[in-house]
Amino acid sequence: MKSHLNIQKGGNKLPEIINHNFKRKKRQTLSVTDYVQAILSGNIIVLSQAITLVESNNLEHQKVAQQIVNACLPHSGKSIRVGVTGTPGVGKSTFVETMGEYVTNLGKRLAVLAIDPTSQISHGSILGDKTRMETLANNKNAFIRPSAAGDSLGGVARKTRETIILCEAAGFDTIFVETVGVGQSEVAVHSMVDFFLLLLLPGAGDELQGIKRGVVEMADMVAINKADGNNLQKAKASRTAYRNGLHMFPAKSSDWTATAMVCSATENTGITEIWKTILQFQQFTVKNEFFDKNRNEQAQYWLNETIQNQLKYRFENHILIKENLGKIKQQVQNGEITPFVGAELLMNFFFE
Ligand code: GDP
Repeated sequence: MKSHLNIQKGGNKLPEIINHNFKRKKRQTLSVTDYVQAILSGNIIVLSQAITLVESNNLEHQKVAQQIVNACLPHSGKSIRVGVTGTPGVGKSTFVETMGEYVTNLGKRLAVLAIDPTSQISHGSILGDKTRMETLANNKNAFIRPSAAGDSLGGVARKTRETIILCEAAGFDTIFVETVGVGQSEVAVHSMVDFFLLLLLPGAGDELQGIKRGVVEMADMVAINKADGNNLQKAKASRTAYRNGLHMFPAKSSDWTATAMVCSATENTGITEIWKTILQFQQFTVKNEFFDKNRNEQAQYWLNETIQNQLKYRFENHILIKENLGKIKQQVQNGEITPFVGAELLMNFFFE
């Protein structure tokens, strides 16, 4: 299995802002202040190390990571966060690479992160193991960080959200979060980005591509990729179908009307139009104040998610719960006690 840490690249040509003391020092010897100062000065090596701390399950690392993230928080937020989803093979990586080249040529600094729902099962990952985006990986204005592995999607998502904060504090003003369109991960990504882009293939309807209606409903834009060669006409027909279909959905709380476009990530067509539309969305939602409101609501959502995750984690790892859970489950299964009484008994152990 490849390590998901080996591919982290980007910004390796920024010597003027790299303090070489940081290179010589061992990671453990950096104080929180050292980390924060280096991140704020755009030091990519220290940024990567801080992300590793965020991703670590070691409690000591987590403590330090929380302090770093907190200190970076006031310096974060000045960005556009774009979520990109779609089934495997639709062209997400190719799209992110082509779009990434385009926006960095415009002078943007881009961080590409990934949430991979399969990483919790395989601990390798569909997204993380791909040594792709090679051009972008060598682009000094781009930073690519594959998905963290984790025990739960919630955990991986939290880590990605905190990684966004660190990247923004390090001066990245454009964040792409890529995810495989196979389930819950879209909800997690949707709740951490400003703009949600769904990539689809020409021809086939979204059900055929395994995309749930709810995901189409979340999208701020549907882009029919691979609109090239023999597929161009089919892609244009799909665009028309989606333009009509997207109007049927209930109005979004942003008041933005989702739109459908065509593009070819390999031929580099439609990319400019998609980026322009993303910027129009940003202007529109900043003006109607949805942009900030949405980010505040997202923060509330993550507060709730974190409370639930932490309670669950503490509950499951409580010594008395560990000792008694199996027995009580068995009693419920045997019909000796009701699930309600079982839960009550466990709660009593937990709060003892
Ligand atoms: P992902 O799994 O969604 O990340 O998809 P990839 O980016 O790995 O692309 C899957 C395959 O589709 C690769 O062979 C790409 O070269 C190809 N591909 C991606 N975008 C396009 C496109 O716009 N046109 C065509 N013809 N092929 C594309």
